[in-house]
Amino acid sequence: MQTKYIFVTGGVTSSLGKGIVCASLGRLLEARGLRVTIQKFDPYINVDPGTMNPYEHGEVYVTDDGAETDLDLGHYERFLGDATSQANNVTTGRIYLEVITKERAGAYLGKTVQVVPHIIDEIKLWMTKLGATGKYDVVITEIGGTVGDIEGQPYLEAIRQVRYELGSRNALNIHLTLVPYLEAAGEVKTKPTQHSVKTLLSFGLQPDILVCRTDRPLDHDVRRKLALFCNVEPRAVVASRDAESIYEVPLLLKEEGLDEIAWERLHLSEDMPHGRTGEHDLTEWIAFLKQLREPRGTVRVALVGKYVAHQDAYKSINESFILAGAANGVHVEVIDVLSDDLTEENVAERLADVSGILVAPGFGGRGIDGKLAAIRHARENDIPFFGICLGMQCAVIEFARNVCRWKNAHSTEFDPSTPNPVIDLMQEQKRIADKGGTMRLGAYDCTLLEGSRVREIYGTDRVQERHRHRYELNNVLRYKLLEHGMHFTGVNTSRDLVEIVELPDKRWFIGVQFHPEYRSVVGRPHPLFESFVKAAVGYAEERHQMKGAKPTKREKKLQLASAKV
Ligand code: GLN
Repeated sequence: MQTKYIFVTGGVTSSLGKGIVCASLGRLLEARGLRVTIQKFDPYINVDPGTMNPYEHGEVYVTDDGAETDLDLGHYERFLGDATSQANNVTTGRIYLEVITKERAGAYLGKTVQVVPHIIDEIKLWMTKLGATGKYDVVITEIGGTVGDIEGQPYLEAIRQVRYELGSRNALNIHLTLVPYLEAAGEVKTKPTQHSVKTLLSFGLQPDILVCRTDRPLDHDVRRKLALFCNVEPRAVVASRDAESIYEVPLLLKEEGLDEIAWERLHLSEDMPHGRTGEHDLTEWIAFLKQLREPRGTVRVALVGKYVAHQDAYKSINESFILAGAANGVHVEVIDVLSDDLTEENVAERLADVSGILVAPGFGGRGIDGKLAAIRHARENDIPFFGICLGMQCAVIEFARNVCRWKNAHSTEFDPSTPNPVIDLMQEQKRIADKGGTMRLGAYDCTLLEGSRVREIYGTDRVQERHRHRYELNNVLRYKLLEHGMHFTGVNTSRDLVEIVELPDKRWFIGVQFHPEYRSVVGRPHPLFESFVKAAVGYAEERHQMKGAKPTKREKKLQLASAKV
């Protein structure tokens, strides 16, 4: 079938949850038997977000093919359950890089290279690239930023052209806006949406569907008014209410009929491949929601990192805990602990009532001492410990210092002249000067040692996990560490790189050089997160730290709703 394209723009303000709306719509269409993928176009000049600080941009998400991407791709993967790739996230920087590289190679000989048509054509090429593979029935394209931003204009023109070329049967525009409630006036306001749609119209784009973010139900009159002034059908005015959890959004949007309108507008009943009914099958999703809504208790886990003040900096880790908690029938309360504030003196008090400690990935020396203190506390008190990337490297440093008694053991990232460089720059990194896209990135094989805990957890002897780092465990010191009791239970055999460290005499002490958080999806939480939460629950129960699951009013309401689904 001809691939159908859905373009999602945003208006009024940023942070309206465009990514979640795209992911939810994608899941609903997937649940109706279609093959769906979602891509994001970001109008900034960086070629990718890989060199940005998490405070600028939140987490950098990494795909199997080693692309450093926007964190919305994490939502797409968690909601759809399918892997994304470089083609799913394109920035203005990448578009220009492609065009300028082609220009230097002589691809446009004789021509003046311009925004129109060359940049627009390049954007269109990327917009239709995944569709052209024939692997997808529907491609949803999210445009970052807000309509009216100067840097977003070429994308709007590209959408206009794609829609012009494919026709309205094959391309659909959804506009996400804010419908605020003004306390002083005692009513919701439609004017910001009207202005935003006017701006969109000035670029030749008429939205087919309005998705309105609101904190209250939209009554009939408001919907009618929005429909009339924005030139859409009243039923195409869809409310997107604030939800308790992002995982509730697909069902809320289904109730509002979002996927049904998209379905009709794109003539999917007639055009969809034979043999599919178009009926929703949300069994797996609903089963997951039931687990999520009915935890039997709450377990507290500390997330130790230096970017905890930014709510999106560890997005995939936080979501992995939600998914792993549901699978264990508990709610995981993640306590953010700023590593800079931790010391050997205050760590016991700061981490007094947590049942698990996760030390986060990161770059640079700030907060390292706090991370080492947290790891020592976990190791000496046998509290479940999970180290991810830098967290694993810190676990090795802590072990070298306090168990092996190697003076000033460190990573050469933080102390280039340490006498005991237990973590060192990878050989292949020593020649690299450029910072963008040059780390060890993407999926690599990891072989799991027989008899190890990780082998038992994964239930297999070989896995693939995603990476994003420059440093590694130093093989020169590896066997000495082993003599002192640190086991290396996951190894990349082709390059002989340590991927997993374990302390087998502890109840759960595992550090991984890779990022398991990028591989947790709804219905399939990552085995290491699931097992870590299980260990934390065991620890909490033993220590009577498990808190009762007191459902909030909202949760009770949701439970009632779930009984009806
Ligand atoms: N800074 C460390 C490295 O480059 C760890 C990176 C990470 O935690 N993602 O190896």
